[in-house]
This record gives sequence, structure tokens and C-alpha cells, in this order.
Amino acid sequence: MSAAAIHGDPPAPLPARARQAMLLEPGRLELREFTPPAPGPGELLLKIECALSCGTDLKTWRRGHPLWQLPAPFGHEFAGVVAAAGAGVARFKPGDALMAAPTAPCESCFYCARGQENLCARAMDRMVMGAYADYLLLPAHIVARNAFHKPADLPFEEAALLEPLSCVVHAQAMARPERGETALIIGAGAFGILHAMALKAAGVREVAVAGRGAQRLQWAGAMGADRVIDAAREDAAGAIAALNGGYGPDLAIECTGQVEGWEDAFRRVRRGGRVVFFGGCAAGTTLGVDTRRMHYDNLTLLAPFHFRPRDVRDAFAMLGAGRLGAGRLINARRRLDQLSEVFAMLERGAALKCAVIP
Ligand SMILES: [Zn+2]
Ligand SMILES: [Zn+2]
Repeated sequence: MSAAAIHGDPPAPLPARARQAMLLEPGRLELREFTPPAPGPGELLLKIECALSCGTDLKTWRRGHPLWQLPAPFGHEFAGVVAAAGAGVARFKPGDALMAAPTAPCESCFYCARGQENLCARAMDRMVMGAYADYLLLPAHIVARNAFHKPADLPFEEAALLEPLSCVVHAQAMARPERGETALIIGAGAFGILHAMALKAAGVREVAVAGRGAQRLQWAGAMGADRVIDAAREDAAGAIAALNGGYGPDLAIECTGQVEGWEDAFRRVRRGGRVVFFGGCAAGTTLGVDTRRMHYDNLTLLAPFHFRPRDVRDAFAMLGAGRLGAGRLINARRRLDQLSEVFAMLERGAALKCAVIP
């Protein structure tokens, strides 16, 4: 018996044809027609209301991705409405508005058993891709562990921020920012600004964002940073050193995914401070660490990856409470058939995050 039958709703007929964006090769997209599948046991078929562009998608669009063979569907930040529920799904029924993370851990491997579900290999293997589409099939493990009812007053596009915010929450759970502190964020992209929003919501006294591009710095200042520093200027290092009464930032969070950013974060944090290497770099890059600085300045280096279910729950609560104003990050909107234009726009730096609405 289907969940729809349990809840007494007439099963909505599924469309025979729907569209899904496929990345054929770097820089080349195609909208393909497909038949949305009927969900199997524990699964949900989601009608996408909004998908969001992400830096990972942009990197994949530029040069492919080591984990995914092309052609492949892509897009992994989304929110939508349940179109059909598979057998045994009790928590959701057709018509429910839903938000979810694109991964969920197995809960039985070595890492999951130790509370490090962010390292679960099964989670990445079974990541959901294909949110740039009319419909998306949500597998049972995600429905069971990382799917939530969207609060009625939370816009779909803001609900789709659940995945990036979960990454930020996980990183800040490791970094443990405190109210009286000064934090430096390196990188004024969507993740840098999301970190700034979360730090300010946590009561951190001063948040500075160092980045490049007048437009991005203006956005960072308008969306939560107390101070922005143009990293392209010669006096940038001096401006950072002057933070925190001249001691430098207590916490430095790297959000560029470039080794130069990692080196900068290591160099700029104060003695006794914490460095968070948040942005993953290209494979094969290495970081040289000054051991004298590391030891005698008593630095703590943190390199958080992905998120755990508890981070997703915290991110869900933060979005639901509406205190971040995270929806401001989405500063462009396009239809699904304009997806190529979305990536051209991101490439130009003309938007932080773009909502893709079928
Ligand atoms: Zn993402
Ligand atoms: Zn696992």
C-alpha cells in the first residue's frame, strides 16, 4: 500500500515526460526528456520548486569532477513538493513541501559508528545529483535521515540552502566561535558570506571578510560582514593584522579553495588562534607549514569536510528560525531552460547564488 493510500489522498498522476539537465562534457549542457520514475519502497519523487547553483557545480561545469563520470545529471541543492511516495514512507505524503540534504550516511560503517558520519564513504557514493530538473527521485536513506518538512513561511529557495548551510554549521561546530571574538573570512563568495551570517547570528563580535572584486565585497558588507578588506590591495595584510586590537583574528576561515588562501589563513591568524581550511583545493596541491609558527604560536588547524546529520538538523533549525537572512545570498533567478546562461553568469561573478526554477 502506498503512503498516499494510507493518508487517503487520491494518487496524483505522474507526468509521462519531464526535463532533466545533463552535463555532457565541461561547458556543454543539454535538457533531456525523461519519464519520472515511480518511487520504490522508502523513496519519494520530488517535484522540484527550486534548485540552487553551487561552487561545486561551477567547478564541474568548468572541468568535470573526479567523482562523477560525464555525461551526468547535476545540481544538488534543492527544495520541492512530494509528487509521489513509495511504500513504507510514513513521514511524508504527496503535496508536502520538503527540503533535504543530497547525502545521508549509512550509520553502520567504521566512521558512522564513531560519530564521524561526514566521512561515511557510502554517503558520497550515493549522493543525489540531478536537481536541475522538473523531478528528482529521493532515495530511501536520504528520506529516512536527512529530509524535513519545509516550514510554510520559509521560501523554497531559502530552504534549498540546507546543504551549504550544513557544511558551514559543521565547520563552525569544530571551530567553536565565541561571542567576544574577531573572525576573518578569506573569500567573499557565497560560502564566505554564509559563514559571516552564521558567525554574526552566533554573536561573534567582529567578522571581517577579505576577498576580491568590488561587487562581491559590497555584497559581503551588505549581508553581514562588519568589515570588508580588499585582498587585492597592497595594505590588505596590514589591515588584517590590525584587527582585534592589533593581535590579528582569533579565527580565520578559508573559503577560496585555493592554496594561496590556505597559506593566507595560516599566516594571518593570531598567536593561539584557530584556522579553518573550509574550501577544498584541487587534487595534488600541497600546503607548506612553518613548523616554528605552528608550534611556538600554538595554532590549531582544522579542516572540516561535509557534514553530519546533527549539522543538518541544526542548519534546518537555523533556516526555520529565519535569523540568518540567508535568502539574500540568492541574487539571481533563471528558468531551467536558461541553465547555460546561469553558469555563464556565475563565471562572470554576476551572482552569488542563482535560483533555477523549473
Ligand atoms: Zn553545494
Ligand atoms: Zn557510514
